[in-house]
Amino acid sequence: MASVVIVGLGLSGLGCALELVRRRIPFAAYEKENAPGGLARTDAAGGFRFDYGPHILLELPGESDAWFSGLPGLDLLRCTGASGVALGARLESVIPAPFQQNLNWLPLHVRARILFDAVARIGRKEKPPGAYSEYALARCGRGIYDLFLRGYDSKRLRFPLDQMPADWTNRIEKPWLRSLMLPRSGARLPGAGKREGRFFYPRSGGIEALPRAMANLLPEGSLRYGSKLMEIDPRLKLLAFTNGTVTPYEHLVLSLPLPEIVALLKQSPPEVRGAAENLLYTSIYVLNAGIDGPVPPWFLLRIPDSALPFYRLSFPSHYSPDSAPEGKAIVVGEISHHPIRHFLSPGDARRQFDQGLRRMGILQPGQRILVETIRDIQYGHVLYNHATRASIRLILEYLRAGSIFTCGKYGQWRDMLIPKSILTGLAAAREIAALVTGPG
Ligand SMILES: Cc1cc2nc3c(=O)[nH]c(=O)nc-3n(C[C@H](O)[C@H](O)[C@H](O)COP(=O)(O)OP(=O)(O)OC[C@H]3O[C@@H](n4cnc5c(N)ncnc54)[C@H](O)[C@@H]3O)c2cc1C
Repeated sequence: MASVVIVGLGLSGLGCALELVRRRIPFAAYEKENAPGGLARTDAAGGFRFDYGPHILLELPGESDAWFSGLPGLDLLRCTGASGVALGARLESVIPAPFQQNLNWLPLHVRARILFDAVARIGRKEKPPGAYSEYALARCGRGIYDLFLRGYDSKRLRFPLDQMPADWTNRIEKPWLRSLMLPRSGARLPGAGKREGRFFYPRSGGIEALPRAMANLLPEGSLRYGSKLMEIDPRLKLLAFTNGTVTPYEHLVLSLPLPEIVALLKQSPPEVRGAAENLLYTSIYVLNAGIDGPVPPWFLLRIPDSALPFYRLSFPSHYSPDSAPEGKAIVVGEISHHPIRHFLSPGDARRQFDQGLRRMGILQPGQRILVETIRDIQYGHVLYNHATRASIRLILEYLRAGSIFTCGKYGQWRDMLIPKSILTGLAAAREIAALVTGPG
């Protein structure tokens, strides 16, 4: 049987491994850390339990729904909660999410502006949007763009929105103009926030319970932790690891970030190396704070205001029962940065986080953060310029010609949530199965 090697045991690599087990295809899997899970891991600190990044399972569509419920040992809580968009630097004006479906929460003069803008656009011939900013404007109108999307996305991505292509993401909700007509407080259109407020989360152990349950189903002898890949020789089909291991492969599955995959290739054509320069990203500092409760009632707030450093705040102790000791709570801030476009040191990020929490009234005068951790996720947001899509295609085709498959958000360089990342791992295993044993 041809040798199959997986490198990277985040959720997509684990998904790939599980599908290979199901198809009885032997493999060896290597991971640089000493545990599986990648970004979906959880740390204990000072009596709190912090996820590496705030993770919830927002939706389990079709195939992945059955797949998750079939994982023995994984007890998923069905959670409901409110999330919102905080307009302004205090918590007084939070509009329930999705923003575009709850426009009646806005003051009358703002609603009038949004309505006026929508009416003015009726029948106007719009040219197809070329840039992301044009797409967002065409989808939501100037009022919603100026109030929410422009500030939120600029702070989240730290990249000029008019230099990103319109099809970079399709995650912008369409406005429900009917919601402009509802009375102001409390009223919501039936169905508003249906997707946003319902999610799943492990009953105990944090988000890491998910990769642990997946890894428990894998043959232990196939897993090699503490193995960092340092070179791929695509001509000889050999892998070299920093711990001295050298191993051949026939088919290889990688979920490492695509720019790193290209950098690890021993030989690669200049056009492949050149294409990797179009794989843009923005890094994220994830700041986890354990505090003396209480925290606001939302599980997630998006924050477009440029006077505040974070673009999102999450409150996982609302949905993760064992994450905080009795009477305490967790607040998580995400702050984007980039070494050239938007430099921010970890020390400054911590200071800004603390000041931002006080400014919003989440930390009261005299109230202290009991425990704080900071994690820098280098490839947090994958970004596109107008050449990125073609560059990804070129790199993936080159790799595939050498029987190297990539999976996951960073291996495929596409904005993906957990279920989709896992599904790309399953898809890679199927492609390999078709090569090893024939389709079926
Ligand atoms: C801040 C943040 C919040 C998010 N929130 C959500 C959310 O709420 N819901 C949701 O569904 N999705 C969320 N996501 C997306 C989700 O994290 C990803 O879709 C998913 O975890 C990607 O898994 P992966 O296996 O593709 O990548 P990774 O988790 O990055 O796995 C890659 C693996 O490769 C290993 N590796 C890297 N280099 C090497 C090397 N040289 N040698 C060996 N091993 C190596 C890494 O250690 C890692 O284990 C979030 C992402 C971020 C950044």
